[in-house]
Amino acid sequence: MKECDLYKKEKDRIRCFACSHKCFISKGKTGICGVRKNIGNKLYLLVYGKVASMNIDPIEKKPLYHFLPGTFSFSIGTVGCNFRCGFCQNFEISQIKERQIFGKDISPEEIVQKAIKSKCKSISYTYTEPAIFIEFVKDIAKLAKKKKLKNILVTNGFFTKESFDYITDYVDAMNIDLKSFSDEFYRKICGGRLEPVLETIKRAHKKGIHLEITTLVIPGENDSEKEFEQIAKFISSVDKNIPWHISRFFPIYKMQNRDVTPLLTLKIAEKIGKKYLKYVHVGNI
Ligand code: SF4
Repeated sequence: MKECDLYKKEKDRIRCFACSHKCFISKGKTGICGVRKNIGNKLYLLVYGKVASMNIDPIEKKPLYHFLPGTFSFSIGTVGCNFRCGFCQNFEISQIKERQIFGKDISPEEIVQKAIKSKCKSISYTYTEPAIFIEFVKDIAKLAKKKKLKNILVTNGFFTKESFDYITDYVDAMNIDLKSFSDEFYRKICGGRLEPVLETIKRAHKKGIHLEITTLVIPGENDSEKEFEQIAKFISSVDKNIPWHISRFFPIYKMQNRDVTPLLTLKIAEKIGKKYLKYVHVGNI
């Protein structure tokens, strides 16, 4: 556990700025993510140096298809998340309570050494949302950069301006989920909001970070032609060269009773995407 950087004291409470929830946290409590706790009116990151998932993944699995292709990325994530997506593929580590915090104790130095030893070209902060363990990300990313490793954020994009500015000098590439173009979808299914995600996409592009975007297409939720069109149009308004990954949904977690995304739906999304964007990739099939 380590004291967080991204917070301010406001009377007898704390305000966290690591993500756009901007939680007010009273003494003894954690924020929505469950991993940032007010102890004695200071905010602590409970998962600093505690990695719940660590793998050597092909970079295409992030997915990034246009950044260091054919290389491996040393991939890590802690427990906890700031979203509550009913379709989360990593719900066993993302949806936890404070008392369930677990992970392997490992320092930023050890992570960087392992990445080098396993001949990875990059480190990916992934599986759960890196914004919630951003101080840990920064300490690893600084060391990684010195060793000429690239840093990749795989994120839901729910950053604040403060957290974006805090980390992005050390970030080379991002895959940002654009889960829907409906604020209602974000609020009801994810416990988030759309606008901060759109802002992060625009900021990342402006900063010159390599950017790819992913949308998981869930039958009956975000699979209308209108929504595909809105997403593709938005991405192209930022830059038509940003790759868009359209990903197939399989029933999981709270969405066990849904169908797998029909291939036809994915083809329709691909066709619409290609009207606006240069690179459209259908994945998870
Ligand atoms: S990271 Fe987000 S969810 Fe977690 S405490 Fe900070 S503002 Fe709240």
